[in-house]
Amino acid sequence: MSNKPVVSIVKGKFPPDRQEIDRMVRRAIDLTGGLQGKIKKGSHVVIKPNLFAPYPPPISVDRRVISSMVRLAREAGAKRVTVIEGVSMGTLMKRVRPSATPCGMNRGFKTAEVMRLLGIKREVEEAGGEVIGAEDAEKVEVNIKGGIALHRVNYPKVVLDADCFINIPAMKTHTMTMVTLSIKNLQGLLDERGRYYSHRDDLQQHMVDISKIRKPDLVLLDGLLGMEGMGAGEGGTAVEMGVIMAGYDCVALDSIASMCMGIDNPLLVSTTRLAAHDGLGTANPFLIEVAGETIASVRKKFQLPATYTMPIDSLVTGIYPNIDIYIGGACSACWLMAALAESQLAKVPQRFSLIVGVDPKVPPKLKTDMAHTFFLGECALATGGDLLELRNAMQLAGIDRFLGGCPPYEQSLVKLEDTLISMGYLDPQELVAKAGKHREEFFDYYRKYDPTWEAEM
Ligand code: SF4
Repeated sequence: MSNKPVVSIVKGKFPPDRQEIDRMVRRAIDLTGGLQGKIKKGSHVVIKPNLFAPYPPPISVDRRVISSMVRLAREAGAKRVTVIEGVSMGTLMKRVRPSATPCGMNRGFKTAEVMRLLGIKREVEEAGGEVIGAEDAEKVEVNIKGGIALHRVNYPKVVLDADCFINIPAMKTHTMTMVTLSIKNLQGLLDERGRYYSHRDDLQQHMVDISKIRKPDLVLLDGLLGMEGMGAGEGGTAVEMGVIMAGYDCVALDSIASMCMGIDNPLLVSTTRLAAHDGLGTANPFLIEVAGETIASVRKKFQLPATYTMPIDSLVTGIYPNIDIYIGGACSACWLMAALAESQLAKVPQRFSLIVGVDPKVPPKLKTDMAHTFFLGECALATGGDLLELRNAMQLAGIDRFLGGCPPYEQSLVKLEDTLISMGYLDPQELVAKAGKHREEFFDYYRKYDPTWEAEM
């Protein structure tokens, strides 16, 4: 018998109904050897799906895949099945709610609300499980054995105590990690502070270090509707894949899944390469047994995010006629955030300066006044010389255009948008209406794929 880790691929009819999803999940797990020995009678099973935002697939895992897994775990003898997840920082801090407040935007969704809205809470409870948002879970401080970029985190006790831990990622591209599969998925278990700090340019090693805390006993990948392009949120585009995959080696599963997404060398995915290097599993596809369908029979060439196909400076410098960007000595996280900040500033027909990095070179006189000059990231806020003088002058004038943080993540984009609203350049009602239209477009697409779904508002 082969000692190779097994990764199964099951393809079904598309679009699948509930029975078909049940069949595919069971078949995928059976092909990897089943649940015998993994789930014991009377045990506590904990499931971590990818629920990125208050949007159904392909942004979040299909609720029917989760409930199928809950039912299977119960059938295998589990006494208790808990589904836990922590939504993205963008969802917690930035995603716009359907209504504005009198003073501006109403933002942010907690995980428990996302679980209810997507119908996951109801589905899981009907299948005999329970749900909990990572924000509400009891945490313990964990020292990560073998952690390289991440050494100590607050981690949900329920996962540490679980008899069996099951990871259910989606199959998506990601602007900061190329793809998000099983290794990236575990980030949602960290508390808000941990999730926030992860988003630097050592994000990939952070993800791998999180996997060292509690390796999953089983990975079940929802590849029914995949996502390509500028994922992992609303910027991505659905790919109708129609596959479910399973495996007991998370690295092997990510390796084969990325090949199914058209990445012929899976070691180009940093989380896979680093996890294999750190001994978490097998990345070499020649050392992995693929069961069920072949990679070639399901493979689709996913469009990778522009951050992986274009030079990063081509997304940041010299793009918008109304933005003078001064960026120097900045790491990749700040380059990406600069691109996102610029896309907000570009909506306003005014000239802006955006200063980013540890030592950006700026001309003796900027083309903008202080009110239209933004600093992005802690490095820009710590730069001395003329920029220090400028910041002091802005402080004295009571002009706060300082978008701090390392990395300057979602909170900086929220502050930038709020600043543009307070300057009268953006109308919160219009922003809410636009977000609502965008949300409805996503919902409409998903309703065609799954007519039994409706958002539980
Ligand atoms: S603030 Fe500085 S160190 Fe932090 S992400 Fe930006 S450039 Fe890198």
